[in-house]
Amino acid sequence: MAIASSKDAPKIDWIKEKTKACDYNISEHIIRDFLTKKITIREIEEAIANSRIIEIHTRPEKGSSALVLGYAGEKPIHIMCADDQEGRLLILFAYVPSLPMWEDPVNRVKQGDKHMEENLKKCFFCGGKIEPIKVGNFDYRLKGQLYVVKGIPAGLCVQCGEKYITAKASMKITRLIEKGKFLGTQEAFILKYA
Ligand SMILES: [Zn+2]
Repeated sequence: MAIASSKDAPKIDWIKEKTKACDYNISEHIIRDFLTKKITIREIEEAIANSRIIEIHTRPEKGSSALVLGYAGEKPIHIMCADDQEGRLLILFAYVPSLPMWEDPVNRVKQGDKHMEENLKKCFFCGGKIEPIKVGNFDYRLKGQLYVVKGIPAGLCVQCGEKYITAKASMKITRLIEKGKFLGTQEAFILKYA
């Protein structure tokens, strides 16, 4: 056995305990869910309280994470949970399971080879399907300054919302930034935590 026990996927009782004790951290993915009003932290906490593990995902070097299914009221929520290796629960991302990935909250849609398109790629984070889109506004922060890039071609994970930008597109953005070709500035809504 080469894998250290601390890299094992978290157990469901531990996940529930940590959530109840508010001893967890969330990833940036979850903040995005708050901003888009898809899932709230109260719903995540409620879902975890009556949840079970439906899949274990193992990634080299990062250890294992547990995909948990729970319900906030009637709303099914999948939550990816990991042990941050410092004794705290790490909530990586959450989503409401739906087609085209999930037949129902427990079962994935079986992906027959004939349905797989040539360029179909899977999301690195959640294994969701990537669809090509044009992003209206892509936010990018460089040395504390927020930049918004409009109309950039990207791949969007239909499940967790992660976006992927090609090397070609990222080169083009870099060139535009270097040239300082800005259309203008836009108002931003700023929340101050403290
Ligand atoms: Zn994803």
